[in-house]
Amino acid sequence: MEYGISTKCLYGDGKELTVDQSGAISFPIYQTATFAHKGVGEGTGYDYSRLQNPTREHLENIVASLEGGIDALAFSSGMAAITALMELFAPGDHIITDCDLYGGSIRLFDNISKKNGIVIDSVDCSGSSYEKVEELISESTKAVFVETPTNPMMNVTDIEELAKITKKHGILLIVDNTFMSPYFQNPLKLGADLVVHSGTKYLGGHNDTIAGFLVTSSAEIAERLRFIIKTVGSGLAPFDSWLILRGIKTLAIRMNQAEKNAKNLVDWLKNEKKVNKIYYPGLTDHPGHEVCKKQARGFGCMVTFEVESKELAHSILKNVCLIRFAESLGGVETLITYPITQTHADVPADVLAANGITDRILRLSVGIEDVQDLINELERVFHE
Ligand SMILES: *Cc1c(COP(=O)(O)O)cnc(C)c1O
Repeated sequence: MEYGISTKCLYGDGKELTVDQSGAISFPIYQTATFAHKGVGEGTGYDYSRLQNPTREHLENIVASLEGGIDALAFSSGMAAITALMELFAPGDHIITDCDLYGGSIRLFDNISKKNGIVIDSVDCSGSSYEKVEELISESTKAVFVETPTNPMMNVTDIEELAKITKKHGILLIVDNTFMSPYFQNPLKLGADLVVHSGTKYLGGHNDTIAGFLVTSSAEIAERLRFIIKTVGSGLAPFDSWLILRGIKTLAIRMNQAEKNAKNLVDWLKNEKKVNKIYYPGLTDHPGHEVCKKQARGFGCMVTFEVESKELAHSILKNVCLIRFAESLGGVETLITYPITQTHADVPADVLAANGITDRILRLSVGIEDVQDLINELERVFHE
């Protein structure tokens, strides 16, 4: 019988119950670069840690099981994972991306992928814009790349509907699932071919390690990605693999607590007159609410909102104390981010404007603190 998601956070699909002969409960850190052979053709299955390492492999098995993939690969960062993913494509290939994405992904596509001859078109993939995606598909189109909900505007794409289109045209659907984590959403089960994670965020969960993942349901893609990771050498180090393994053990309870806090903060923000708009898919009037409800087991712990003025945004960022003004998300500590100067600083002004990322937009990654302490902090910084 398949384990539930909280058990999978500890044991994956159960094949990993016995770690080694010592009976160690915590998986050992195999801090080694290379592995000895007994003789020619008598290896242990491990050769060199750039290719594979037992600690990284154990982590990859857990992540594959959480996403329902046949294979997962752990990279030194989320961007390293997306960079490796782009190696699946050749000059002249066309890729359609959602227009609202993590700023680092936009920077990679605009400055590296385009230089390498990949043709990128971006379009709003959320809501009912699937015809717009289909219109862009041509002979050379190889993939559609989306996030849902998007960073930072929380637009929701219907993964199942989009997968129908990509399957019809025989192209890949790639979903960056960082914002939801496998605890709330499993794109492969909805028809996606590849899932991306910044493991730095919810999987690691403690704002202490940079990591990334690619998970796939296709044996052919897995094989190609295994060749890429060993060739370019961007696999996750053993110690960092162990930190992410430890983080994942508490993924379920962290996500539950953070989401509960996020809902409470959204309720507070709704009653605050200096807040113009809240972007949270859990709100019934959010355009992606129904789709999110259908395809995910929760609405997540990320809340974006617009305040009445740039001055207020700046004074909030100046005055927060318990909530830290920092980039990143997905950790136990609540962080507040200013996308326009942080995560999206390198995104061209016209793209920012089109996506609604103004100097009044703030993004909260809600953590696991006592929610009353977070509310007290918001009360203070909004009225100081
Ligand atoms: C942070 C992030 C990334 C990049 O991951 P790193 O681990 O910082 O390299 C990619 N996608 C999303 C949605 C992110 O939030």
